[in-house]
Amino acid sequence: MSGPDDLRALGEFGLIDRVRRIVQAPAVDVAGIGDDCAVLRVGDRVLFATCDAVVEDVHFSRAWATPEDIGWKAAAAAISDIAAMGGRPLFVLTTIACPPDTDAAFVEGVYAGMRGAMAACATGIVGGDTVRSREGFVLDVTVVGEPLPHARYLTRAGARPGDLLAVTGWPGRSGAGLAALQQGVAADAAIAAHLRPVPRLAEGQWIAAQPAARAMMDVSDGLAQDAGHLVERGGVGVDLWADALPVGPELRAAADALGLPAAPFVLGGGEDYELLVALDAGEAGAVCAAFQERFGIPLTPVGRFHDGPAAVTLDGAAVDAAGFDHFA
Ligand code: ADP
Ligand code: MG
Repeated sequence: MSGPDDLRALGEFGLIDRVRRIVQAPAVDVAGIGDDCAVLRVGDRVLFATCDAVVEDVHFSRAWATPEDIGWKAAAAAISDIAAMGGRPLFVLTTIACPPDTDAAFVEGVYAGMRGAMAACATGIVGGDTVRSREGFVLDVTVVGEPLPHARYLTRAGARPGDLLAVTGWPGRSGAGLAALQQGVAADAAIAAHLRPVPRLAEGQWIAAQPAARAMMDVSDGLAQDAGHLVERGGVGVDLWADALPVGPELRAAADALGLPAAPFVLGGGEDYELLVALDAGEAGAVCAAFQERFGIPLTPVGRFHDGPAAVTLDGAAVDAAGFDHFA
């Protein structure tokens, strides 16, 4: 029975707030619950720690994702939270929960996929746990990382009124790819972006090294919703500009094939694992040009932070693009 206090009423972030009141932070904690990674000081080192879980028929369907796709994406999503700090991954632990009738080849495929996603960043699995589930496959990926030597890292806090909000690459492709899979529409590039996202690790490290960058996070739940986390943590508001939203050729092709407008995918589609950055407005033009030069993809200003209410608006009006919440 649904009560006023069940998870549907609370929502994912309401539940995390409840949990936050119960946990006790360890002595090494610098910044715990509330950022893409926990930030820990261990001796004279800073470490990042993060975990991400996927559940069969909630996050993926075996109808369209291969075992390799499932492992790749779970690992990429967890590593993306290290990218969101501007860090690099050190090592990975993983837990799998499998129904007893699972084929061993399926599990081996998942591990091959995780290895594939980790190959590019020279990290790997050092342990984990294996348990039985009653139904469906569950995969948790925990990553420990660190900042680059002598480098700063970025949290979700730090955006100031007047800063620009910028996004890397091509948000919205993954959401359009998922819609194409669900509707049986051909859109190969968007579908590939959905099944095999690539975390923006090098990009995050580069951005963290720019003095003009003040806050950063990765987009897992949709640009508009995730911008809300930068707003909450920065104590600022942000107004997004509809005309500035980047629509890449792959999203354009997928949206056309679906017969849908592209902008809602950019605002509401998650799981592209692009990075959202607060940039000093005076430096933003130069930083974005240097980023494009360095990585061959855009870093696009899509809005401006202000000292008004801590809300996300689009051209001054409420945003009509719900992001992802597990329970709402
Ligand atoms: P992300 O999308 O970057 O992985 P989430 O939205 O999943 O972040 O989580 C937001 C914050 O809440 C993170 O700091 C995460 O570590 C923390 N968090 C989420 N779920 C739990 C939980 N069950 N217990 C403790 N902390 C949690
Ligand atoms: Mg994140």
